[in-house]
Amino acid sequence: MLLGRPDLPRPSASACEKACRLLERALGPSKLLTQADSCERFATDESEAVGLTPDAVVLAESQSDILAALQVAREAEVPITPRAAGTGRTGGAVPVAGGIVLSTMNMNSIKDIDRREGVAVVGPGVILQDLHAAVEREGWFYPPDPNSLAACALGGNVAENAGGPRAFKYGVTREYVLGIEAMLMGGQRISAGRRTMKGVTGYDVTALLVGSEGTLAVFGDITLQLIPKPPHVMTLMTLFASVQQAGKAVEEIIAAGLVPRCIELLDGPTLEAMRRAGNPIDPKAGAMLLIEVDGEERECERQAERIAGACEDVNALEVLVAQDAGQRERLWAARREMSSAVRRLSKKKLSEDIVVPRQKIGELLDRVARTSDQTGIFSLTYGHAGDGNLHVNFLWNDDSELPAVERSIEELFRNVISMGGTLSGEHGIGVLKAPYLSLEQSPELITLQRDIKRVFDPQGLLNPGKIFPAGSHRAC
Ligand SMILES: Cc1cc2nc3c(=O)[nH]c(=O)nc-3n(C[C@H](O)[C@H](O)[C@H](O)COP(=O)(O)OP(=O)(O)OC[C@H]3O[C@@H](n4cnc5c(N)ncnc54)[C@H](O)[C@@H]3O)c2cc1C
Repeated sequence: MLLGRPDLPRPSASACEKACRLLERALGPSKLLTQADSCERFATDESEAVGLTPDAVVLAESQSDILAALQVAREAEVPITPRAAGTGRTGGAVPVAGGIVLSTMNMNSIKDIDRREGVAVVGPGVILQDLHAAVEREGWFYPPDPNSLAACALGGNVAENAGGPRAFKYGVTREYVLGIEAMLMGGQRISAGRRTMKGVTGYDVTALLVGSEGTLAVFGDITLQLIPKPPHVMTLMTLFASVQQAGKAVEEIIAAGLVPRCIELLDGPTLEAMRRAGNPIDPKAGAMLLIEVDGEERECERQAERIAGACEDVNALEVLVAQDAGQRERLWAARREMSSAVRRLSKKKLSEDIVVPRQKIGELLDRVARTSDQTGIFSLTYGHAGDGNLHVNFLWNDDSELPAVERSIEELFRNVISMGGTLSGEHGIGVLKAPYLSLEQSPELITLQRDIKRVFDPQGLLNPGKIFPAGSHRAC
């Protein structure tokens, strides 16, 4: 069942006791939590995934601590789940089989910002927003910007290959990861990748580790490529009577060869949630696009004019260009608060992250509305329309509605696949989408990935129950 816990055995009490004893000996009490009430908060993330309270939580401060924790997991044969800030949307950091949670949040130093090379080296616990501020002070820019940027950490960003609004122009996290210090279940510490701009030596193990959702290795230091900070940014807010018109405007902008750094779409029900949260949005509006361009000032002005023209061509109700940094920030703050505004509408919410070809956004939204009519589960959609990556949110109040929620989700995934899309654009598969992997990927491709997992983690102890539907290998 999608919203249940996968059927994985909890380690025996004696294995857990052994693990706690060995951890205490290896790390001392200050880096270890074993009381249920202190471990409890590590059982969940920002998704509906159901986990177990871990038997122990390691608060790693160094790569040696990570290696020590992995060795204990191996010796005591208990599962171990890497964790950064716990903002994941698919349960990646949720310990579905209990055991040890390995938090890397205390490894939070920015070790180097090389101004001449445009390279940064960071610990996995560095909060993304802190990295943005630090590199921008030096005139550099790190583009990936998930909307959770004030809370999420680089270890989780790399493990999820996080995206965000700016991915339309600048791509996702993978484009900026040059190298990773990775700790393996077998006790090895490997330095994958490089520090140079170019490099094609051997297999691209770094690219394999990015997006591996904590199932192949635990990351220590991460080397990131930076780009020069764009000198100027301009934000436009456009309102439309319908989401179809907004979709048409997106098509027009892309067809005109314009490359804003982001095009965010908010549908009618999302705008209504924002109105209820106190944002004064024109009641006639049934969709909003938040568009941002960057570059030289003249170029921004030229692009903004053409984008405004494209929106007016499809009868936008309003086109507003933010006049200063304060106005820009207010627009984005409203966009970032949107998730909590939506959360207030019901007791339960599941945010699905899917991608469809851009010209099919309107069709997908029609199909989502039809599904809601059929199942009775309220839904609303927002997301990164520039790259076809939408977050379809299902909202419900009572557990009796769960079967209808699951039907809605499965229908969404089937629609996405039939339209040539993909199951995840940025949140990963984790535990929540694992039952659906085979809708998109062939048995041969899934088997190949399981074989890769076995090479990294022969005992199947590293983050079990993630990505692959439960199967023969303990981890898959
Ligand atoms: C309000 C809100 C908005 C969001 N917006 C976006 C968005 O725009 N774009 C986007 O991409 N995501 C978004 N997310 C999802 C989430 O923030 C990202 O997936 C983020 O990258 C997770 O980072 P984290 O530090 O919280 O990782 P966690 O949730 O702690 O972990 C995520 C995964 O990384 C693994 N992991 C963590 N640390 C390590 C490590 N050191 N080594 C190996 N594996 C590790 C975990 O095992 C897990 O599988 C949003 C979430 C929220 C709540």
